[in-house]
Amino acid sequence: MSITKEVKRKDTEKRELLNPFLSTQTIIKEALQKLGYSEEVFELLKEPIRMMTVRIPVKMDDSSVKIFTGYRSQHNDAVGPTKGGVRFHPDVNEEEVKALSMWMSLKCGITDLPYGGGKGGIICDPRKMSFGELERLSRGYVRAVSQIVGPNKDIPAPDVYTNSQIMAWMMDEYSRLREFDSPGFITGKPIVLGGSQGRETATARGVTICIEQAVKKKNLQLHEARVIIQGFGNAGSFLAKFMHDAGARVIGISDAYGALYNPKGLDIEYLLDRRDSFGTVTKLFTKVISNQELLEKECDILVPAAIANQITGQNAHRIKASIIVEAANGPTTIEATKILDERGVLIVPDILASAGGVTVSYFEWVQNNQGYYWSQEEVANKLRKVMVDSFENVYEASQIHHVDMRIAAYMVGIRKSAEASRFRGWI
Ligand code: NAD
Repeated sequence: MSITKEVKRKDTEKRELLNPFLSTQTIIKEALQKLGYSEEVFELLKEPIRMMTVRIPVKMDDSSVKIFTGYRSQHNDAVGPTKGGVRFHPDVNEEEVKALSMWMSLKCGITDLPYGGGKGGIICDPRKMSFGELERLSRGYVRAVSQIVGPNKDIPAPDVYTNSQIMAWMMDEYSRLREFDSPGFITGKPIVLGGSQGRETATARGVTICIEQAVKKKNLQLHEARVIIQGFGNAGSFLAKFMHDAGARVIGISDAYGALYNPKGLDIEYLLDRRDSFGTVTKLFTKVISNQELLEKECDILVPAAIANQITGQNAHRIKASIIVEAANGPTTIEATKILDERGVLIVPDILASAGGVTVSYFEWVQNNQGYYWSQEEVANKLRKVMVDSFENVYEASQIHHVDMRIAAYMVGIRKSAEASRFRGWI
């Protein structure tokens, strides 16, 4: 490759690392072009259709008042109401919330759910807030965005650092505002308030089903496979358990503080028992390697299940896995995807692999709307069908169009929003 081309690729990756919104736009543009849509369709879908910024005053425990900034982004509501989580994190920003809402449209398109994508966030650090402060912030957020959300408009859910308790407060606040019980306003609720069986493990189950499908495509056997998982929180730890139960050998796991690696296999039951609620377990051990070292270890299946931008142009050449299944959002850059694809590595992209969570959220909403609740087994069977069909559709698109699984997933995912917008006469 010429030096100018190499510099250009590195510059593009630098921009992507800084701004996931721009890289999402880049892939959406490529997907729409490959599908033969006009520039107008890209102009409509390159940005959220609606973005609300709110300021939320909260009485703190010491009687002071702190003003928090929050966002709600709705990418496209041509298909139906928008859907997506609310993130509580100090690094939340407008561009990230916009990108995340676009990813939700893509996930809902891939899984064929009757939703467009939405996402919300509040700039805050819940680890430094009391229970009471978090409750007042959650209720304040619902009051601030109440005009644009609702069971048939935009349905929030948990995301980073938000949980079923926060969903319960938000549902209660919305029900009080509207003066009727509205369980379908939000998903990820506690079971007693209309939450669905199987929601907690849904993302890891969806990732597991994608791994089973990917293994078949590569003619491998899951019960002989060596698996490395980065991240040991909700997604990573349940996945480790499901892999272990399936007879695979989990040889590496990690958290924010380091990684554990044993080519003979780790004691998953013990690690699950000892991890804390933030997904931390490596602090209990002295023989720890770095997260970067773990990613480059010999294995068959690598699952990034922690944070974004872990596999880049810098380390993609050294990854040994033949299958990468992205449980985390945005763990692999476009540059790294190209390198890995050229090397024949099968990448199951985030918008497909981690769609189990939104799928069971949809099941929760359906159960709330009909007031009739399903067993764990029923939820698991329905989730399996959605994930297998989604995987096969994306895989088939990648074969037909001779593109990698990421572009294929974007093509399958964006088509529904594009078609719905066209039929409505918007474009
Ligand atoms: P979590 O907070 O429960 O766990 C995160 C894990 O990552 C923890 O083990 C933490 O120690 C580790 N971690 C944090 N910073 C790290 C770093 N710098 N290096 C290595 N490890 C680090 O989160 P989760 O719910 O398991 O989500 C993990 C990823 O999966 C995120 O990217 C999230 O967006 C994505 N995801 C989760 C769901 C879900 O339902 N949980 C759904 C879709 C996507």
